[in-house]
Amino acid sequence: MRGSHDKRTPPELVGWLTLENPNWQPSYPFPTDIRRSVVDALREAQRGLCVYCGRQLHPNSPGRFHIEHFRPRSSYPDLSVELSNLFLSCGPELEAGTPSETCGHAKSDRFDEAGCIEPDYPACTYRFRFLLSGEVAPRSDDDAAAGTMIELLNLNHRELRKDRSDILDRIDGENLDFSDFVDPQTCEAQSYAHIVCERLGTVIP
Ligand SMILES: [Zn+2]
Repeated sequence: MRGSHDKRTPPELVGWLTLENPNWQPSYPFPTDIRRSVVDALREAQRGLCVYCGRQLHPNSPGRFHIEHFRPRSSYPDLSVELSNLFLSCGPELEAGTPSETCGHAKSDRFDEAGCIEPDYPACTYRFRFLLSGEVAPRSDDDAAAGTMIELLNLNHRELRKDRSDILDRIDGENLDFSDFVDPQTCEAQSYAHIVCERLGTVIP
């Protein structure tokens, strides 16, 4: 699990929320301009990566990422416009146009409060082990929540396993370092930078 850095609160969102009155309550989906400012803030906090699998998001392809409600709207309607509950996840579509089988799209409305891991970086990444085979597993055998998240998000999907295995091979075989995966100026990260950094004993800034 990749997780998110702390978020800055967009002033546009604050302004919109303060419009609340007895006849109108802010609710999801956001108006277009508010959505844009929220997506920008989330993208920045996630350094351009999916909050769950760590693939790079496609900011200009609307079907390829979505605003993810970590606590689903169906069970937590009060959190539907609460920034702390919002993240960006890849899906509902993949590059080939096929439905995403992982991350927020796989999780859908499923959520287990007792067994969840908050997507805070780097704490959540430390709960997992990324094996050379590409498989992800709980770091600690008795961490049931880590197992639950892997299952909910389908993080051992064959494509993710292959991608992770490839990237781990590259780190070991090509003498890559941190700067190959994170732009030091913008902090924009390449896909799976959280795994690379974990392997290199550092964190995404
Ligand atoms: Zn993802």
